[in-house]
Amino acid sequence: MPRPAYSSPAVHPLHLADVVYPEGHPRYGETGPVFAFLVAHPDGSVLVDTGIGPPHELIDRLYKPVRYPLEEALAGIGLAPADVRLIINTHLHFDHCGGNQFFPGRPILVQRREHESSGAPGYTLPDWVDFPGANYQLLDGDGDLLPGLRVVATRHTPGHQSVVVDTDNGAIVIAGQATETAAEFEAEQEDSSILKLKSFRPVRVLFSHDFATWPQGLASAQL
Ligand SMILES: [Zn+2]
Repeated sequence: MPRPAYSSPAVHPLHLADVVYPEGHPRYGETGPVFAFLVAHPDGSVLVDTGIGPPHELIDRLYKPVRYPLEEALAGIGLAPADVRLIINTHLHFDHCGGNQFFPGRPILVQRREHESSGAPGYTLPDWVDFPGANYQLLDGDGDLLPGLRVVATRHTPGHQSVVVDTDNGAIVIAGQATETAAEFEAEQEDSSILKLKSFRPVRVLFSHDFATWPQGLASAQL
């Protein structure tokens, strides 16, 4: 296979919070991580999700989050928020779009169906989606965004999307919350969107709320 004409992107998981799942959640009582991801692409840094936003009475009471600032996570890989060229939201639940408000003017790519759904009562925190300077660019289904970087519509919310990154070592998939865990991803044999992600034959699949990756490993290092 010919090597691509650009240097290979790298994918950095950014551990931005730990939350305790509230009553009514399938993982009630468990503590789980919240990850965002930085794709160091030759055309610019791409931030996939932005974590939980600033302190918020309801969120803090329900989820008891411990936050690890995005700025520090980026600094850990030698970047600053100003280096982020564009943002992709897998979806607009509060734990995925909470930091969008710190990027006024920056393009934020989200599925049109997701953006339309986000206004429903209780769906998310509307102020964390619509903020002064918000610059959403709406996508309709699968598509290439940059060389070697594409989005694939997946399940979880009406307009959830996952991100597929071509690297010299093979495809890395940022599944987001298409499944909650790596184990669920492994077990899923029927959902067409998960099968589509598997069809890229990824060398690594990363999840928003699981330290584990697929096929196996921990989401702690550059990939
Ligand atoms: Zn989530």
